[in-house]
Amino acid sequence: MTLSRKWAAVNVPKVGWVRFRLSRPVPVAKSYRITYDRAGRWHIAFAVVPPPVPGPGTGQIAGVDRGITVSAAVSTGELLSCPGLTEAEQQRLKDLQRRFARCNLGSNRRQRMKAAIAKLYARGRDRRKDWVEKTSTDLARRFDVIRVEDLRIAQMSRRPKPKPAPDRSGAYLPNRRRSKAGLNRGILANGWGQLVRRLEHKAAGRVEKVKSAYTSQTCSVCGHCASESRKSQAAFRCVACGHEANSDVNAAVNIAAGRAVSARRETLVQVSLKREPQLPTSA
Ligand SMILES: [Zn+2]
Repeated sequence: MTLSRKWAAVNVPKVGWVRFRLSRPVPVAKSYRITYDRAGRWHIAFAVVPPPVPGPGTGQIAGVDRGITVSAAVSTGELLSCPGLTEAEQQRLKDLQRRFARCNLGSNRRQRMKAAIAKLYARGRDRRKDWVEKTSTDLARRFDVIRVEDLRIAQMSRRPKPKPAPDRSGAYLPNRRRSKAGLNRGILANGWGQLVRRLEHKAAGRVEKVKSAYTSQTCSVCGHCASESRKSQAAFRCVACGHEANSDVNAAVNIAAGRAVSARRETLVQVSLKREPQLPTSA
């Protein structure tokens, strides 16, 4: 039941009428769920199946790559970055965590710190969600086929196994756990998994997963595959033809072309190698 432009109410069994503020227009829904988050906020969510976003119908293909320097790169050359916490907010989070660690167990102060930390995390999460929604709608609307790299996020996020030293001295060999942890944080913070999931909802049947091996080392113009072409994290310069590009965009063009290369450096998916390689970049 809508009360005004800003307020509405629902009849919750055993509780009675509960008033809530509208953050968006309420669609016709059969069910709802009320939740309480760690930042101390109550939410009401209505279950509706959103209508799929129609594509342009022009056969436009885009490749989207999970970026390293930005959150995602599109084969059109666009670099998308998912917002998180600002520098100042990250600093504040660090301070709060340090103070939290020094609080006495069970103290009120500790509880307050905990709530403040949760609130900051929730802020970052909300921003990321907002970005994911806007970006997925935009991509679904502009392109008929959206190719993404087939990354197994769950696999990549798994903790690396400890490697015991072969002489069984009880010591462990380095297993790159720290660096992997950093990478995982990056992936999760960038909301890549969320973006792909929402894309699959909105552009149902129009999202294709392409094997991602070597897409970052392969030239999107001549197809030459060499690790030396990857000059740095950000820059790609083909050692064969001299093509220069942002390395994430170069990979996104390969993904758009459905071009994936096996470990033996053979082309596995030969979707559009015979086509003009730059085709998918037309905006
Ligand atoms: Zn080249």
